[in-house]
Amino acid sequence: MRRRPVNLVTMPESRFLRVLCNKCKNDQVVYSKAATEVKCLKCGEVLAEPTGGEALINGKILEVLS
Ligand SMILES: [Zn+2]
Repeated sequence: MRRRPVNLVTMPESRFLRVLCNKCKNDQVVYSKAATEVKCLKCGEVLAEPTGGEALINGKILEVLS
């Protein structure tokens, strides 16, 4: 697999998101570009899935932290 060159100038800004778990309503801060699966610390539900860019958020985003 060929590695894509990383252009830091055009990369969208990464953020931290406060995500509400759909299952147990625990809120947790998740990095918007998480490279690994982020699981809820309380119930183990997957809150963010890595996609190579912005992570896929499986929950309600309550707040965007810069
Ligand atoms: Zn949970």
